Amino acid sequence: MSFRQLPSVDALIRAAGTAYSDVPHELVRDAARTVLAQARASIAAGASPPDLTALVAAIHNELATVLTPSLRPLINATGVVIQTNLGRAPLSEAARAAMQTIGAGYSNLEYDLAAGERGSRHVHLESLLTRLTGAEAALVVNNNAAAVYLALIALAAGREVIISRGQAVEIGGGFRIPDVLRASGAMLVEVGTTNRTYSHDYAAAITERTALILRVHSSNFRLIGFVHEPSLAELAAVAHEHSLPLLDDLGSGTLIDTRQFGLLAEPTVQESVAAGADLVTFSGDKLLGGPQAGIIVGRRDLVSKLRRHPLARALRIDKSTIAGLAATLYSYLRGTALREIPVWQLISTPLADLQQRAETLAIRLNAAGIPACAVACESAVGGGSLPGATQPSAGVAISPVVGNATELASRLRAGRPPVVARIVDKQVLCDLRSVFPGEDEMLATALMNAWQALQ
Ligand SMILES: *Cc1c(COP(=O)(O)O)cnc(C)c1O
Repeated sequence: MSFRQLPSVDALIRAAGTAYSDVPHELVRDAARTVLAQARASIAAGASPPDLTALVAAIHNELATVLTPSLRPLINATGVVIQTNLGRAPLSEAARAAMQTIGAGYSNLEYDLAAGERGSRHVHLESLLTRLTGAEAALVVNNNAAAVYLALIALAAGREVIISRGQAVEIGGGFRIPDVLRASGAMLVEVGTTNRTYSHDYAAAITERTALILRVHSSNFRLIGFVHEPSLAELAAVAHEHSLPLLDDLGSGTLIDTRQFGLLAEPTVQESVAAGADLVTFSGDKLLGGPQAGIIVGRRDLVSKLRRHPLARALRIDKSTIAGLAATLYSYLRGTALREIPVWQLISTPLADLQQRAETLAIRLNAAGIPACAVACESAVGGGSLPGATQPSAGVAISPVVGNATELASRLRAGRPPVVARIVDKQVLCDLRSVFPGEDEMLATALMNAWQALQ
């Protein structure tokens, strides 16, 4: 039995020598155990026993894996600018700097410097948000799911919430509006039909148990054809006739009109506020382009109620998020958002620039013997915004000679940094819409390395 030829854990650790004297002994011991278990498994599967040098090298790799953070930066070549799985919005330089500065030391997070006494963490964002959206008051929590949940718990627990049947939907990642409503203790009253709902459907469903009317933006699907939903202003009129608040979950929400980039109109926060929504909720890290956060703007009395609810404490955001979000909002306030916020930099990149970069990349790859072509493609904006809409883009497509596109894509993901690309028509497509110009060089190297690894 060749298991006998394997060293003991202690013998293996001794063989590994003093190279790991600065690593806690338990880590080295665990790595040795893992390596020996793997060796036994491969022997059992018919392999010949690894020699001591191979085992020591395996310990080195195992320790490197254990000591390397699993969260790491990558190149997003999917073309999807706001990809939840890839971390949504990249942060602006100002946001990163602010998070670093505030994170590194003490701050007046909840301290009123003028009075020398306890203050509120909410003041740092509220005036920025009210100025930018036209709302009376604002509150920021952990994410938009938390914002909706807090609003429902604070305003509708034990009572009824009216929503169009076409909006009782799943947003993604298991966030289902009917489930959130149930979890908040509110009762869902669905009105209308999946495709058509009118103001009078809402009006007819209002009783003394009604707490509010909820509108949910259809952020990840589009109903087309024989469809109708009342406008937000019409809904506000129905709600206010009955002295009920209208809660508008915008999802992405944007402060900038997306039509200027040839995209469909994503509803803006300002429009919702102006149309009469009493509370509007949206994400900090979708089209706003900031850190993860759930932003609530609207009527002062309602925002105060949310702020006073015990759950607000459980859902509060931390100092570095406040710093990063404030820095992001200042870009909007100064009118420099398109230039400074990465999400908008990517969305507003002219097609000609992407084509030029794709050509350059293809030429470089061709020179390395890789059959790459600059191609035209379409990219989705993603992140629960602009469902069904795409933007013209450009990228490089590669058809592997050895192996297939799936294998090449997997090699790309295994690289340093990893590259996540799309597979289109049996080719690997790197869509440059979501690649920063400064990453082109790294992308070229990554493609060459992945290509080499397959040969
Ligand atoms: C994305 C989204 C949410 C969830 O927002 P998170 O910030 O991911 O928590 C809720 N509602 C809508 C309509 C959304 O698009």
